[in-house]
Amino acid sequence: MRSPPGGLFERIDGSIDDLVALTCDLVRFPTVNPPGEAYTPCAEYIANRLRRSGFDIRFERGTDTPGDTDRYPRTNVIARRAGRRPGPTVHFNSHIDVVEAGEDWTFDPFAATVSDGRIYGRGTCDMKGGLATSIIAAEAYIAANPGYDGAIEISGTVDEESGGFGGVAYLAHKGYFSKPRVDHVIIPEPLNKDRICLGHRGVWWAEIETKGEIAHGSMPFLGDCAVRHMGAVLERFERELFPKLAEKRTAMPVVPEGARSSTMNINAIHGGQTDDYSGLPSPNVPDSCRMVIDRRFLIEEDIGEVKGEVVAILEALKKDRPRFDYAIRDLMEVLPMLTERDQPVPATVAQAIRSVMGKEPEYVVSPGTYDQKHVTRIGHLHDCIAYGPGILDLAHRPDEFIVIADMVESAKVMALSIDALLHPGT
Ligand SMILES: [Zn+2]
Repeated sequence: MRSPPGGLFERIDGSIDDLVALTCDLVRFPTVNPPGEAYTPCAEYIANRLRRSGFDIRFERGTDTPGDTDRYPRTNVIARRAGRRPGPTVHFNSHIDVVEAGEDWTFDPFAATVSDGRIYGRGTCDMKGGLATSIIAAEAYIAANPGYDGAIEISGTVDEESGGFGGVAYLAHKGYFSKPRVDHVIIPEPLNKDRICLGHRGVWWAEIETKGEIAHGSMPFLGDCAVRHMGAVLERFERELFPKLAEKRTAMPVVPEGARSSTMNINAIHGGQTDDYSGLPSPNVPDSCRMVIDRRFLIEEDIGEVKGEVVAILEALKKDRPRFDYAIRDLMEVLPMLTERDQPVPATVAQAIRSVMGKEPEYVVSPGTYDQKHVTRIGHLHDCIAYGPGILDLAHRPDEFIVIADMVESAKVMALSIDALLHPGT
């Protein structure tokens, strides 16, 4: 790795107050998704900050994407700063949306409280701390080496927590995540400051419906109870499917360890009457019961087999169980994703981690998906990883925080990576 421009690390060390203030400002926009609150002011804040640092700003609203309304516009911001000569482009992409705060907070989730070297608040870890870190890294780099080649881009995008359709997917369809505009993408998701996240497991969401026949609840034998049929589905899953999934192990370095097997969550079951009545429900035999499954699969598994295992159980029940009938509907599928370690971004960030921290990076794979899927599948850009300073286990939890010293170290890794990626072979 070439030696960094003089004064780079000193500039980052001198920007700690700015880094903390920037993170706090970002956290104070309550960009809760759903519904997609405060996206526009948050995007404008990022734009104003980066405009002052010499970036050209574009806003792109994800029109006609889920949740986009005039009350809740899906406002994305893309900032680009070209160097003196043409060359590669490095892009840092962060989502600005956060999940709801939930209960059990000691701190006000949107006050951004600094305490004991940490910043507490919803989104500190996932991932406004990472966004702030990338901004400080880029600004310090530009100040230390104003004559750099190529271009640096930073985007703040919406809706990652709900699939990224109005955010990175929308921008990828418009060419923002493809060559020749962009060559290298780093997503500062909270995977820990010394870990390189190469990709994620696959996802299959589906809805299974068991069918029955409505009748008076006092004479259930005249009808056919869809909820009992669903109970039989659950029983088969417990007996046959879950043990089988637990046995499937992957060579992917998924963290946490428990996610190195195949998993399936029963996301919801709804059967019979809705619970919005007052008083008593009327006595009916339910004629429909629906279950949503969230199956996470491994790179060693084929999506056809993944679906086939579930369908085989349903088909077997059809043979074994009188009047059993079902329907199954796909809700979403994402194939597993894995960037090779020798691609420029993972190789460069690995070298930067060695330089800054004096240790080998850990390579990991995320149990769930994130916006990398859109960069790769829609943008056809494979040189993409997640790398950022937050602690993964804190994401979406009460009293979420980020460690300020981790952000500082991570900013140095990012700044070194910018330098190396913009000047390959030097
Ligand atoms: Zn995130």
